[in-house]
Amino acid sequence: FLVIALLFCTATWSQEKNKSKAEIEAKVSELLSKMTLEEKVGQMTQITVTIFEDTKKPGYFDAAKLKQGIQDYHIGSILNVPNPGAPTIQRWQETMTAIANEANKTRLKIPVLYGIDAIHGASYTAGATLFPQQIGLAATFNTDLVKRGAEISAYETRASSIPWVFSPDLDFPRNPAWSRMWESFGEDAYLSSKMAVALVDGFEGSNVGSKYSVASCMKHYIGYGSTTTGKDRTPSIIPERILRQYDLTIYQAAIKAGAKSVMVSSGEINGTPVHASKHLITDILKKELGFEGVVVTDWKDIIYLNTRHKVAETKRDAVRIAVLAGIDMSMVPEEFSFYTDLVDLVKKGEVPMSRIDDAVSRILRMKFELNLFQNTVANLKDYPKFGSAEHIEEAYKTAAESITLLKNNQSILPLNKADKILVTGATANSMKYLNGGWSYTWQGENSDTYAADKFTILEAFQNKLGKENVLYTAGADLEEENDAEIQKAVELAKSASKIVLCLGEKNYTETPGDISNIYLSKSQIKLALALAKVNKPIILVLNEGRPRLISDFEDKMSAVVQCYLPGNEGARALVDILYGDVNPSGRLPYNYPRFPNSLEKYNRKYTESISEGEQNNDATYEKSYLPQFEFGTGLSYTTFNYSNLKIDKAEITNSDNVNVSVDVTNAGKRAGKEAVLLYLSDNYASITPEFKSLKRFEKISLAPGETKTVKFTLNQKDLQFVNEDLKWISEKGTFTVQIANQKKDFLLKD
Ligand code: BGC
Repeated sequence: FLVIALLFCTATWSQEKNKSKAEIEAKVSELLSKMTLEEKVGQMTQITVTIFEDTKKPGYFDAAKLKQGIQDYHIGSILNVPNPGAPTIQRWQETMTAIANEANKTRLKIPVLYGIDAIHGASYTAGATLFPQQIGLAATFNTDLVKRGAEISAYETRASSIPWVFSPDLDFPRNPAWSRMWESFGEDAYLSSKMAVALVDGFEGSNVGSKYSVASCMKHYIGYGSTTTGKDRTPSIIPERILRQYDLTIYQAAIKAGAKSVMVSSGEINGTPVHASKHLITDILKKELGFEGVVVTDWKDIIYLNTRHKVAETKRDAVRIAVLAGIDMSMVPEEFSFYTDLVDLVKKGEVPMSRIDDAVSRILRMKFELNLFQNTVANLKDYPKFGSAEHIEEAYKTAAESITLLKNNQSILPLNKADKILVTGATANSMKYLNGGWSYTWQGENSDTYAADKFTILEAFQNKLGKENVLYTAGADLEEENDAEIQKAVELAKSASKIVLCLGEKNYTETPGDISNIYLSKSQIKLALALAKVNKPIILVLNEGRPRLISDFEDKMSAVVQCYLPGNEGARALVDILYGDVNPSGRLPYNYPRFPNSLEKYNRKYTESISEGEQNNDATYEKSYLPQFEFGTGLSYTTFNYSNLKIDKAEITNSDNVNVSVDVTNAGKRAGKEAVLLYLSDNYASITPEFKSLKRFEKISLAPGETKTVKFTLNQKDLQFVNEDLKWISEKGTFTVQIANQKKDFLLKD
């Protein structure tokens, strides 16, 4: 009976879904049929909110300008934050009311779609709950936790009357120096896909039109994170085979999860700017992957086809190229030039009306799905949990599961409350470094916007131990060398029993974060080396968006803890981990390089002797593979033992699944969480196989002495790779499953 009831419910639910889909399509067609060319092109225009500002009254709109944008240019979308940044939810409500009132005076009363970079919580709203940045989310290896965080971000963003977030970031960085590394999920495509789905599910919920959900925006399609130079928005070279095997799979997963929109990469691949690529936008994304949502450009990127990439001789031609490539909405087209040019291009027959109709249908569909025609401005009474203790607790839990213990010589950690601690380093006493960019402002530079109950690392120590029991001096500036400060730190270190050295990076976003040297700054390395001479155990705490090299002094550190950009609750979580109140369980989502010219990924190819049989035969590729810490590294205060790896079939055909199980035992005295990682290797293939690649993971909790059996099912897709004809195929032969130190083979027969 239960089964029948369940089948009935599922069938009814999917009928309902199809019905509402059909209803939405009918509404879209009806509205579209009433629209003039000008109204349609207006929908495709997204203007930055600062254009409407009253320059004499920061934070308020110039009524004439707003009227002009909405009434005369019919603009369909607005983005960004009004000056002076980080409005309260009340202030957002006033802003949105002004916009909605203006839209209501238009002929068709189409609501304006507001989008924002709420990327680690409602990060442009004062008092919002701020989570770890995406790289830290990946380190949790806990998709349930990440999804819950996205639900909270959606709730608090909608409380701010904003229905659309420019998140998740699906970039796939191949050079860890890239200034947006921390906005990504790290170096593994499978981990990135799983995390992408968790964020999309959390943002959009089961009904994106509910007042607690927002539409997500996958970005930056595609290849953006793979610049050859490591500098932001510079060219990438990615063969399509590789693009399909890795980068595209992340988008596929997020599209399947229902992601409503996508933002195009500002970069270029193999010489073609992505905004000009019909192949990537229309043929692959819209046709092959069946993406039905909105394709929005990135900031001013149509204009850049003319001024930066120089593939268009005029701005007007740039509009033609981008719209024909398949873009649906132009972000920040320099006031209204996009509108004027596109209307003209359609009138002169250079862009067909069918292309405009496709774009506008997608935009209207999203507005209907979001229920914007009914629900444009938030009723604040519906959001009592905005910034609540319950939400803050989730941000704390996420930070605690992201923080990654990379080294712990002689179990120096956890600390003892009786230890006399010196806290020092340039990141020790800063909220803005803990949060990084996209925090209240674009660069996240405004420290004073952090509430008094948000704590820096130093303050979290003082809260734990009492102010008088913590020694502190900044020790070094992030950039400038300051010998007097170093000397002060050295003197204090002499009276301490242990040193907590907090190093890292300033806050930055996008191109301003470009670096030419991936080592930590000289001033910080100098401090580390000076402190090491004092001969006290040093716990190195890294607070950074990307792995800044530490090989000059890492051997002198007793412990290394990576906290990434852990957000507002990060310092509290860190200090709880350092004192053992929380057992660390994060794992590194990238290879932490040791040297600037050695940037191999964990899934590198070949590992054997370089010159087998020849004289120089102890040179091996494996010997030159020396990351400081490998992808997946993450220690605990307890010991997890793995045993009994089983697979249910030693031989399979190309329609079988493989069931894998492994026993994990907590052999220590503390409860702990463990991310169990399953890797697969294809031993021989017609395209050089990866050494190993992550195929499954699950985070479990184990009490002392407890054993759990973790089960995974591998399917045929897991055995496949993209061949030279750009087809996903598997080839017969032996595959090796690896979980921790356990390995088992199976054979794929014809
Ligand atoms: C960034 C995007 C962001 C957009 C809107 C661009 O500069 O590349 O990630 O969503 O600005 O703020």
